[in-house]
Amino acid sequence: MNVPWEECGWERLTRAVGRRRLPGWDATTGLVAGSEAALLYDTGSALGEGAGLRAQAQRLLGGRHVTHIALSHPHFDHVLGTAAFSGAEVYGAVGVAELLAPAGRGRADLYEDAVREGLDPARAAEAVDLLVLPRHAVSGELTLDLGGRQVLLANVGPGHTAHDLVLLVPAAGPDEPEVVFCGDLVEESGTPQAGRDAIPSHWPAALDRLLELGGEEAVYVPGHGSVVDAGFVRRQRDELARRFGLG
Ligand SMILES: [Zn+2]
Repeated sequence: MNVPWEECGWERLTRAVGRRRLPGWDATTGLVAGSEAALLYDTGSALGEGAGLRAQAQRLLGGRHVTHIALSHPHFDHVLGTAAFSGAEVYGAVGVAELLAPAGRGRADLYEDAVREGLDPARAAEAVDLLVLPRHAVSGELTLDLGGRQVLLANVGPGHTAHDLVLLVPAAGPDEPEVVFCGDLVEESGTPQAGRDAIPSHWPAALDRLLELGGEEAVYVPGHGSVVDAGFVRRQRDELARRFGLG
């Protein structure tokens, strides 16, 4: 891990954890390096972007490959690069694989959303055709051992979608913070986007759960925008509750 993360366009969060804000839709991708395995949280908006992330991750990992992928939620800017990581074990919230299966109702939505948001139709079609579905469904919490570093995947939703999966990376020592990757349950760069697949009535509770897991001292990484703290997440929770008339 001696390559400067910034040189690859990444923001280093702790010794073995970093993230990149991707061009285009400013979606965040995260990387956690263990001694045996490495996990990437979200894969970008197209196959080419995924391939670029794969190359960067390999460089940051000293030549090793990404072995595990966790998908925060089934929106195009977070999942369409997955096919670039052949051989990686893919995790998603329970139901994502069915939603995005060839006959699933979410598959066409992925393509339509991507094109509506400005992705080239041919690139969108390619990525959707080659989409790799999660083989591992997370319904509660799941701990993964990456070698000297355990991480927790937690299905805290529904909220932003019916399938919101967050990633907690505990601190490796007293000198570094816990890092929580929030997916689009939290957005810093704008008002959280609530589309037709959002479950607004459950969103504040999902953030309560997120705060409970992460605690006051953690660094929270939103799906879009700058890193925030627990206070920001709590304020966003309250704003969402007001916006959706939940008191
Ligand atoms: Zn989203």
